[in-house]
Amino acid sequence: MKIIMLGAPGAGKGTQAKMLAGKYNIPHISTGDIFRSNIKNGTELGKKAKEYMDQGMLVPDELTVDLVIDRVQNEDCKNGYILDGFPRTIPQAEALTKALSERNEKIDAAVDVEVPDEAIVTRMSGRRACVSCGATYHIVHNPTKTPGICDACGEKLILRDDDKPETVQKRLTVYHEQTQPLIDYYKGLGVLVSVDGTKDLNDVFSDICAILEK
Ligand code: ADP
Ligand code: ADP
Ligand code: ZN
Repeated sequence: MKIIMLGAPGAGKGTQAKMLAGKYNIPHISTGDIFRSNIKNGTELGKKAKEYMDQGMLVPDELTVDLVIDRVQNEDCKNGYILDGFPRTIPQAEALTKALSERNEKIDAAVDVEVPDEAIVTRMSGRRACVSCGATYHIVHNPTKTPGICDACGEKLILRDDDKPETVQKRLTVYHEQTQPLIDYYKGLGVLVSVDGTKDLNDVFSDICAILEK
């Protein structure tokens, strides 16, 4: 199963992607996680990506597309994968469709997690992230067993620089301009499904599973 997660920053894409990856035993591929791990390791890509990420802007397609197209050709992707945070622009989506069609493959579902902007800013200020394993938590809605420590891997959690309210506002604007058009793009390909992302995260997960298993 090849799945794309769509939705605003903070809609819960990563949370749901991790749960789906566990259930279907396929990799969770998050471009944000890939960039953050490059930043942490001080790579050239990380240095370039950070300039854009800190401002709430998208990393240019030239730095993003090949990375993902290569990644989905890995051996561990042969039974499918979940793309989280990619594609984020129409050119990225077109590049993905083209690369897949060259191998007679296609995306099975693009899951749009719908959350209104008003709910996003408060959600983000409570988000805590693990840069080691990519897990995300929320201080109220999805707390860890020990405050500040990742349940999955034991590393210290961070409050992302780009989760400050000013940057979140900018990211929402960028989302509406550049990423929201993907909803129509995947509707056109006949694979769009939408879920109400304001529900409790376990209910959102059940809704997604029910749709995927239809
Ligand atoms: P969120 O999950 O909150 O939406 P991500 O971790 O997916 O955030 O992304 C964080 C930042 O990384 C984005 O604001 C953007 O700067 C960059 N980024 C991630 N994925 C992409 C992509 N596909 N294209 C361009 N930039 C990206
Ligand atoms: P995205 O990957 O779309 O940016 P995340 O999965 O990181 O979003 O979720 C953003 C924040 O909201 C995190 O702190 C997460 O724990 C929390 N969250 C995720 N889903 C829900 C939900 N259904 N209800 C309340 N909070 C949620
Ligand atoms: Zn972790």
